Amino acid sequence: MTDCLFCKIAAKEIPADLVYETERTLAFRDINPQAPTHVLVVSKAHHADAAALAEADDGLADELIKAAHAIAVQEGVAADGYRLVFNTGPGAGQTVFHVHGHLLGGRDLRWPPG
Ligand code: 5GP
Ligand code: ZN
Repeated sequence: MTDCLFCKIAAKEIPADLVYETERTLAFRDINPQAPTHVLVVSKAHHADAAALAEADDGLADELIKAAHAIAVQEGVAADGYRLVFNTGPGAGQTVFHVHGHLLGGRDLRWPPG
C-alpha cells in the first residue's frame, strides 16, 4: 500500500524507534506512549486490521503474538504482566488502518483499577 504510514515505517521510508524485527514483523515505540513500555507490533505486509490478518490465515497472526511476547521479555515487562490490544475498526478507536498490536507494560494495568 503506497499511502499507508505503517507500510512506510516497515519499508524504512519513515523513521521510527525500532525495537524488534523478524522476517515478517516489525515493532517500534508508539510516538504517544500510554505506558512506560508502549510498542506497536506490525506485520510488514499490509492488512487493514486484525480481522483481515486473521482471514489471511497464513500464520502471520501467530507470528505477531509471538513477536509481542518476545518484546515483552526483551523490555522486562513479561513477568509483571502486559496488555496486547488490537483496536479493530473506527468504533474501537483504530486510527491507522494497518494492523498493529499495542504492547503495553511497565505499570499496573489491572482492569478495573483497584
Ligand atoms: P490506533 O489508534 O490505530 O489503535 O493506534 C495508532 C497508534 O499509532 C497511536 O497510538 C499513535 O500514537 C501511533 N502513531 C501514529 N502515528 C505514528 C508515527 O508516525 N510513529 C509512531 N511511532 N507511532 C505513531
Ligand atoms: Zn500498510
